[in-house]
Amino acid sequence: MAALAGSAAADRLLAGLRETGALLEGHFLLSSGRHAGRYVQCARLLQHPERSAAACADLAGLIRADRGEERPFDLVVGPAMGAVTLAYELARALGVRGLFAERVAGGGFALRRGFSVAPGERVLVAEDVVTTGRSVGEVLELLADLGAGEVAVASLVNRSGGDAPFGGTPYYRLADLEVPSWPAAECPLCADPGTGPAVKPGSRPEPE
Ligand code: ZN
Repeated sequence: MAALAGSAAADRLLAGLRETGALLEGHFLLSSGRHAGRYVQCARLLQHPERSAAACADLAGLIRADRGEERPFDLVVGPAMGAVTLAYELARALGVRGLFAERVAGGGFALRRGFSVAPGERVLVAEDVVTTGRSVGEVLELLADLGAGEVAVASLVNRSGGDAPFGGTPYYRLADLEVPSWPAAECPLCADPGTGPAVKPGSRPEPE
């Protein structure tokens, strides 16, 4: 199964994430209460259209090279809200249409707003960062229900810790990133006298 991370493209992405404050290094208090040494919020990079386009061009290039086709999928779909703009920009890079799926009351995702996937259409599921992969997994279930053809997943960042977070479904990403976190009582950064206290990621000055 394809599980590709491009090295030059990974370097470009990680540099862009740092330059836009989308990847912060330090001592962070997460909303879960855990502490971490890194924080990733791809929306901070994706808010810049030219950077979003460049990252999606790299991702599309990786996918085309692996598939050996100019247009290896018929459409891109991303789970809202996080992947709405990414799915759109990746669709533009691949020259296909871009959709988003919305979480529905009672669980799972649905296509609304007149979006549809025809039986047999080849679908690329886009996500900015794959951590647990839960939302993507639910979109894959939706696509199976709709009778989609071949499916694959693409993300900017893989922080799942594995090569195949979606089992046999091919997975493309630009960069792998570890973001270790700990319960506050076990945090090694708290134990380090040279490190300041944990802060919420948005509470310190952001790089330009
Ligand atoms: Zn700590």
